[in-house]
Amino acid sequence: MRLSRYFLPVQKENPAEAEIVSHRLMLRAGMIRQASAGIYSWLPLGYKVLRKIEAIVHDEQQKAGAIPVLMPTIQSADLWRQSGRYDDYGAEMLRITDRGDREMLYGPTNEEQITEIAGAGIRSYRDLPRILYHIQWKFRDEVRPRFGVMRGREFLMKDAYSFDLDKDGARHSYNRMFVSYLRTFERMGLKAVPMRADSGPIGGDMTHEFLILAETGESAVFLDRDLADLSLGERVIDWEDGPALQEVVDRYTASYARTDETHEEAVFEAEIPEERRLTARGIEVGHIFYFGTKYSRPLNATVNTPDGEVVPFESGSYGIGVSRLAGAIIEASHDDRGIIWPEAVAPFEVAVINLRQGDAEADGACDDLYAKLIARGLDVLYDDRDERAGAKFATIDLIGIPWKLVVGPRGLKEGVVELVNRRTGETENLSPDDAMNRLAATYGRA
Ligand code: ATP
Ligand code: MG
Repeated sequence: MRLSRYFLPVQKENPAEAEIVSHRLMLRAGMIRQASAGIYSWLPLGYKVLRKIEAIVHDEQQKAGAIPVLMPTIQSADLWRQSGRYDDYGAEMLRITDRGDREMLYGPTNEEQITEIAGAGIRSYRDLPRILYHIQWKFRDEVRPRFGVMRGREFLMKDAYSFDLDKDGARHSYNRMFVSYLRTFERMGLKAVPMRADSGPIGGDMTHEFLILAETGESAVFLDRDLADLSLGERVIDWEDGPALQEVVDRYTASYARTDETHEEAVFEAEIPEERRLTARGIEVGHIFYFGTKYSRPLNATVNTPDGEVVPFESGSYGIGVSRLAGAIIEASHDDRGIIWPEAVAPFEVAVINLRQGDAEADGACDDLYAKLIARGLDVLYDDRDERAGAKFATIDLIGIPWKLVVGPRGLKEGVVELVNRRTGETENLSPDDAMNRLAATYGRA
């Protein structure tokens, strides 16, 4: 993309309405624009990031065995009456009436809908287990929408739902999602810590929230410092191997990690030595939850067992805040010049900066680099605007592109361009070919 032809409405001034850094930077970098309270348009740069986050979530869900579907945003109130949640959900639910006076709603979540679908489509224990998921917009009329896309009213969520014959099966499905979440967040360059959540009337230990540690997080978190240092790395996961998944889950849940909702100071102090006690703030980016037959029973979603009995499914639901992640990643990765995108979610992989726009030699070298980088499958933003070098650097650093290729007459005389890393500031003079090879290798392209 040539920046001179792109739509990138960056702002120089700090927007007064933004209280936290990710909201400020998303507005300043021209990623989003508020449509009304808690409702945003995703402008080209923001939309690219959202798409990349989505693609990682899709990929990891399917690797873990979940099957993509797409359910509507508008649901019928009748379905929610069957589970009893139509009245319980309260003012957060956006209720709508159609022209025939039928009561509808804009889905805040999809347990009822998916249970109806699975109930109609699954008959026998032989059809189990299944995990279905979608990535779809949700609406919740939050009391206090704030922090930009982090607590919106309309937001994009990945929600998966598992269907099993019994509790053991449900645990395997739960563990699949647990490990899938670890992989998903790591791929985005994040450290997300699973923390014990409140299981309410369902009880049990099968509910966790995944939180990123960040000063601006809405939740207070209390954890064993050692848990924050765990990482899954490149290990191969056998998703069918129940005991192996359980082992990973056990390792990540072996020590104390809770949010303010479940925190017990006395237990924290008894279990964790003082030097390992970490009290911080966190952003919830995912929540997984086993709820047994809570929806299958009232919605009459049943399955035949091998013994010829008819029983309701055992289920769980598994959410990821896809649009919230765009903000959360910025909270975790920025400096005073702007965003620092992890390579996996960066809107562009490299920016070519022409220091002397209009100079025949510099223009020619940049055009050539630009074409070759595209041919190698790299997503390039070419800053070909007629601007001073300083202004170009400010824009490219603000929007957080991980690598810059800086091209100017002085370097070209010596046959080199500068390759600059946004995170470390490290700079290398390389021939254009070497610089391109380096980038292709970094991003795993030919
Ligand atoms: P919270 O306690 O933050 O309100 P929740 O418990 O209501 O979250 P879930 O219903 O479990 O959240 O939704 C799954 C995920 O969707 C959350 O982990 C979060 O990342 C995201 N999410 C929830 N509410 C919002 C919102 N208003 N704006 C953006 N993302 C949200
Ligand atoms: Mg909520």
